[in-house]
This record gives sequence, structure tokens and C-alpha cells, in this order.
Amino acid sequence: MSLLSHKLFFLKKIITLFFLLALAAFGVYWLNRARTIQLFGEIYARVETNQKVVALTLDDGPNEKIDTVLNILKNHNVKATFFPIGKLMKEDLSPIKKIVEEGHELGNHSYTHRILSLRSYETIRQEIEPTDKLLREAGYVGDIHFRPPYGMKIFMLPLYLKQNNRKTIIWDVSPEGNPTLNMDPKKLSQFVIDQTKNGSIILLHPMNDGREASLESLEPIIQGLKAKGFIFKTVSELLEMADS
Ligand SMILES: [Zn+2]
Repeated sequence: MSLLSHKLFFLKKIITLFFLLALAAFGVYWLNRARTIQLFGEIYARVETNQKVVALTLDDGPNEKIDTVLNILKNHNVKATFFPIGKLMKEDLSPIKKIVEEGHELGNHSYTHRILSLRSYETIRQEIEPTDKLLREAGYVGDIHFRPPYGMKIFMLPLYLKQNNRKTIIWDVSPEGNPTLNMDPKKLSQFVIDQTKNGSIILLHPMNDGREASLESLEPIIQGLKAKGFIFKTVSELLEMADS
């Protein structure tokens, strides 16, 4: 082999290696964010059903805005699913007790709300178990599904969830990431009403700072979807309605 072909041979190897590494990095990135696929266990972004049913999921908090949210839900006779943050529950469990009293579903959204990708099995256990304990302390008795902070979920997280018989709940309707919608309650609610399909799971953060438009759009979303014939279900109820 001449010196030139030797060099070319190594250059090709380096390019191939670089390409494979880039492909692997993209694969990990994609898998971390994929809404319908994960390495282990069950994950749901929505369910397949021919019934006009939808689940409203409300993440983060709880905080003082809980009363406003609960009043809107009560006025429209809607049961939602809340995914509150463990450490905020530890500071004040009374909003969670109210959520339980009003008959809503609760899920686990981790203790510290940090990204759980690439964390150890033990760290994940410490994020999930104390949060569950607080939900039970507040009097919640139903199934506890898990929603990963920021929707990210590799590698140990899905393994832990599978081994502990937990379902991962993502979403298929999420308007808040769109800057043309997230400051405008009218546009935001219309987007959600237009995008919702049978079996959809809607994600909103109506209690977070900077999400005033989400809080304001809660009522028009409920009214608009009801006008289209949708019935609101908790996540657990929705999962039971999936076509077999
Ligand atoms: Zn969150």
C-alpha cells in the first residue's frame, strides 16, 4: 500500500467513525425526547380510541394559584390529572390535599424536577419514592403514573419505572413551547381546541410564573372542547378507554 492510499484508508476510517458517533448521539437525543418510544416499560402520549375523550394534565406547582385552577375545574365539572413537584409538596401539602378532596388524579413528576436523563438508578429512586410518599400522605389512593421532567427519559428512568410497574405519561397537545401562542390566551386555547383528537393528552402549566396565558386559557379550552363534544377523563380513565 502506498503512503497516499494508506492515508486515505485512515481518513475513510475516521470519517466513518465520526459518522457513526454522530448517528449514535442523534439516536440518544431522539430517544430521550421521543413521545411514543422508550427503552423499557409503557409510555403514552395519547390513546387510540374512537370515543371523544381527552385528558387534561396540569404540571408543576403546587402554589397559591391552585384555588383558581380548582375552581375553574369544579365550575365545569372536569376531573384533571395533576403532576406536582415533590419538594414543593414538602413545603406545603395543603394544595395537594385540596386536589385529592376535589377528586382529581395525581401523578409523580419527581422530587426536584431536574432532568433525569443519564442519572443513576439510586438517584431516580430518590426522586420518585419520597414524592409518592407525599402524595399518599395527602390522602391520594389511586394509581400513580410518572411524568418525566421536561419529558426526558433515558436510560435508567424507564428501567426503574418498568421494574416498579409505572406507566410513563407524555402528551400530544402542548401549546406552551410555541412563542406565538404562549402569551395569547385566545390563540393558545384555539390551538388546543384545534389540535385535540380522540384520546389526546393535553399538557399545561397554569400555575407557573410566566404562564398566565395558560391559566387564562383553561376555561376557554374546557368550554371549546366540550362544545365539540369532548368528555374530560383522568389519565387512568383515558388509558382504560384505549381500543384493544
Ligand atoms: Zn414540569
